[in-house]
Amino acid sequence: MKLRIGIIGAGPSGLAQLRAFDSLETKGQEIPEIVCFEKQSDWGGLWNYTWRTGVGKYGEPIHGSMYKYLWSNGPKECLEFSDYSFDEHFGEPISSYPPRPVLFDYIQGRVKKSGLRKHIRFNTAARWVSFNEETQKFSVVVDDLVNDRTYTEIFDYLVVASGHYSTPNMPYYKGLEDFPGIVMHAHDFRGADPYEGKNILLVGSSYSAEDIGVQCHKHGANSVTLTYRTTPIGVNWPEGIKEVPLLKNFEGDVAHFSDGSKERFDAVIMCTGYQHKFPFLPDEMRLKTHNCLFPDHVYKGIVFNDLPRLIYLGMQDQYYTFNMFDAQAWVARDIMLGNLPLPEKEERTKDIEKWMDKSLALKTHDDEIDFQTDYIRDLIRMTDYPEFDLDTVAAHFKKWLKDKDEDILGYRDQTFRSVMTGTMADNHHTNWIDEMDDSFERYFSDPETIEEEESPKKEALVK
Ligand SMILES: Cc1cc2nc3c(=O)[nH]c(=O)nc-3n(C[C@H](O)[C@H](O)[C@H](O)COP(=O)(O)OP(=O)(O)OC[C@H]3O[C@@H](n4cnc5c(N)ncnc54)[C@H](O)[C@@H]3O)c2cc1C
Repeated sequence: MKLRIGIIGAGPSGLAQLRAFDSLETKGQEIPEIVCFEKQSDWGGLWNYTWRTGVGKYGEPIHGSMYKYLWSNGPKECLEFSDYSFDEHFGEPISSYPPRPVLFDYIQGRVKKSGLRKHIRFNTAARWVSFNEETQKFSVVVDDLVNDRTYTEIFDYLVVASGHYSTPNMPYYKGLEDFPGIVMHAHDFRGADPYEGKNILLVGSSYSAEDIGVQCHKHGANSVTLTYRTTPIGVNWPEGIKEVPLLKNFEGDVAHFSDGSKERFDAVIMCTGYQHKFPFLPDEMRLKTHNCLFPDHVYKGIVFNDLPRLIYLGMQDQYYTFNMFDAQAWVARDIMLGNLPLPEKEERTKDIEKWMDKSLALKTHDDEIDFQTDYIRDLIRMTDYPEFDLDTVAAHFKKWLKDKDEDILGYRDQTFRSVMTGTMADNHHTNWIDEMDDSFERYFSDPETIEEEESPKKEALVK
């Protein structure tokens, strides 16, 4: 009987798994039967923007955490697929920090070309997974949300690619229940427009806090304050954005901080991270981890050590994204097909410990970049995912960190050279701080024609 592979999630990681199998099929090799369950109505995971918060059309918790005006937060040259370049997709050089719709288009290009949609069952949520020791097969119970039908499918291998930036960590601070303004998590932030003229408090020192902070500043917030627990982000903030130490409590709309300072706010946004949440997995199969560079219990960061027929993709904290998911998916493919024999459990455990020990000794962001670079190198060595110049990509990442430190409002105007094609990125027609429109059409519009149509909002921002 043909091998059956189940995939949960059609975001960049799940799509990488589909593409990995497709790359064999295009070489004329027979591929297993693959079914990918995706609870949203389209692919792309977080990149498939939704205006919704809370629950979706069918009562499912909303997966999306992305927002309007989201531009790539790292150089696109660091996430480029090594088997499908930006040049191949767009046919012309584009800037290094495109907005979300442009990156979403790029992600889709590769899978559209491969005709992979046929493997995906949309509007279908995985509800429960069990494993039969005797048959060595998984049963996956799913809900077809459109037809309100529950059914079960059997698989030899299961790939969990359900993401981990969707279920918020929501802290409590004394007095929050009496705060008169908006209190929400970054997961529900859908754009900076409602905060024009407002004083915003962002709790956290993550990428979310940094980016939502600068977005609100750009779109006209009166003031943006970030409160950190231990370490500030510490970049060279412009006037209008500042960092203060630990938030203690609220009295009405006034927040008190650990340095004794206090301030009045209109809205509080918790940028306090996300939980790895797998409500469809039983205890013994569930990856229990937090956002870190090398989670415990997964060999090579992907194979669940207690049950190697269970694969996890994209569960690490992410400097690298799309090409890391690819490298993982290519290795997972070869393991599932039996082309890459797994070592015994003891040896796998030693390998996991080796990577974890290394990850725990990392001190700086540059160290972390080097670590994830080595991790990907290790994966690519095991499979035939097209090699690329990882050292240069690591150097791009380090420059990106420096650029942000120096000019948090201007780093997205920098350009990088692709290691896949050698193409130098183009300058975008408008500096990021002045570009109020993140649409695909605007991005590709002719610079000659947009000179005249200055937006009033943009003019108001030039302080
Ligand atoms: C606000 C924000 C900004 C980001 N910006 C960038 C950026 O600029 N550049 C970058 O490279 N990365 C960025 N990222 C990182 C992002 O994690 C990755 O780019 C990528 O989306 C991860 O892909 P994934 O497939 O692992 O997970 P996701 O994109 O989360 O996709 C998981 C998929 O699984 C589906 N799913 C979940 N549970 C079930 C279930 N039970 N049944 C069926 N389907 C299910 C979901 O609907 C979703 O489609 C950002 C993340 C966030 C939160």
